[in-house]
Amino acid sequence: MAIDQNHLQALKTISGKKSYSDDQAVIAPHVIEPRGKFSGKTALLLMPDSKEIVSEIVSYCYAHDIKIVPQGGNTGLVGGSIPDSSGNEIIISLKRMNKVLAKDPLNHTMTVQSGVILIDAHKLADTINCQFPMHIASEGSAMIGGNISSNAGGINVLQYGVMRDLVLGLEVVLPNGDIWNGLTGLRKDNTGYDLKQLFIGGEGTLGIITAATLKLFPRHKQKNTAFVAIKNMKAAVELLALARDISGDSLIAFEILPRIGLDFTIKHMPGCRDPLSERYDWHILMECATSLERDLLDLEAVMEKILETAMEAGLVLDGVVPKNVAEMRELWNLREHMSEAQKHEGGSVKHDISVAVSKIPEFLERATKAVENAMPGIRPVPFGHIGDGNIHFNLSQPVDMEKQDYLAKWADLNRTVHDIVVDMGGSISAEHGIGILKVAELERYKPEIDLKVMRDIKKTLDPKNIMNPGRIVR
Ligand SMILES: Cc1cc2nc3c(=O)[nH]c(=O)nc-3n(C[C@H](O)[C@H](O)[C@H](O)COP(=O)(O)OP(=O)(O)OC[C@H]3O[C@@H](n4cnc5c(N)ncnc54)[C@H](O)[C@@H]3O)c2cc1C
Repeated sequence: MAIDQNHLQALKTISGKKSYSDDQAVIAPHVIEPRGKFSGKTALLLMPDSKEIVSEIVSYCYAHDIKIVPQGGNTGLVGGSIPDSSGNEIIISLKRMNKVLAKDPLNHTMTVQSGVILIDAHKLADTINCQFPMHIASEGSAMIGGNISSNAGGINVLQYGVMRDLVLGLEVVLPNGDIWNGLTGLRKDNTGYDLKQLFIGGEGTLGIITAATLKLFPRHKQKNTAFVAIKNMKAAVELLALARDISGDSLIAFEILPRIGLDFTIKHMPGCRDPLSERYDWHILMECATSLERDLLDLEAVMEKILETAMEAGLVLDGVVPKNVAEMRELWNLREHMSEAQKHEGGSVKHDISVAVSKIPEFLERATKAVENAMPGIRPVPFGHIGDGNIHFNLSQPVDMEKQDYLAKWADLNRTVHDIVVDMGGSISAEHGIGILKVAELERYKPEIDLKVMRDIKKTLDPKNIMNPGRIVR
């Protein structure tokens, strides 16, 4: 049943002029997710600009059983940020809540509203000689509230952790409209349950994050990148251990790029080229960074030492070190366009898995064999954050298959891969979350006691099930 017109009018009035849209042309980009796998509809997009208005809207929705989908930059990859197709869910976009509330350089923190775009958070930190170290390819659109709600990972987890490690305090509008003020810059606070942890990675199912206090770090003064060819996965994990050992813990990124992924990227993404003259099966893009001046630590020498030792040990077959920032960008473009490039090769079935780093070679061998047995001609493109044990095990369709026929096998292929992941003690969602996409998979693999506790928490905070219903837990 569609939302009553009187309710829609009341919500527009609460939100205020210019803070809503019922124009379907304006709403359109808010009801489709980046991969185009999910789309939905809504009669109303609300864009409040203060926590008080968010609270009033949510209170109204709570009183009248109106379902809400919180939305940041809408770059999430599991269908959690868009409404379903019933038309009964409204969107609350945080995009107008994009102000900085406080900067505290001596505490190495800043407090921002949740609609601040990630790349703008980087610039804000920079104004006080600090850095905010969360980096993802979608940082030009993804917002702090979305990053927190999805507990985003990205390329620097190796050194700085996931979003959970970067948040000190939160302000949240709870499903009944109450405002919980947990904004604090404290690094130590053992006064009972740490409530903010419920909302980090909560995917908007327990409340709407309106502001956050973020941890900042000293800015990098040196950065060194290398793109190397390696023989196989075993060499990759051994190189990681060696690089961590030699780098004085300055290794911040360690990403894997397979031959096929590199070929797709070079073929389909303008300006991309193979940095090496020979063809190799596997490549690692790694980066060291430090806030130390060069006279205290010569990072170039550190990278040289890593490469030299790795070559002597037979781990690295070939490699290149960029001479300037432009060349460094070129290398990172290869990594960042890898997902996009796969779109040009027809259907792609995605997996965002993690296992212990030491088990990556075994996982890749088992999973590749299993999907090739299940579907001859399938083209695995495993790439990503191998330094964190996180592989985007994407599967491009066989060349001679219809895209729709291939995508119809999505769930079967997921099952094949996820069974292996779980058998190896891994996770079926390393960094993208559950959303709508993986609800059934979560129910299959999470122990019943975990699911029960999660449902109990949901019922306690959101007894009317109005906040992003059906995402994570049903
Ligand atoms: C090209 C590309 C690269 C990516 N790379 C990475 C990567 O390396 N690592 C990674 O972890 N992810 C990655 N992602 C996924 C995505 O960008 C992240 O999950 C990001 O953190 C989502 O932020 P967002 O603002 O777009 O959130 P949205 O997509 O708008 O929302 C994500 C979830 O959070 C909820 N939500 C949003 N804002 C709030 C709020 N204020 N309060 C409560 N709930 C809220 C939504 O309801 C939804 O469930 C990538 C995506 C793309 C398109």
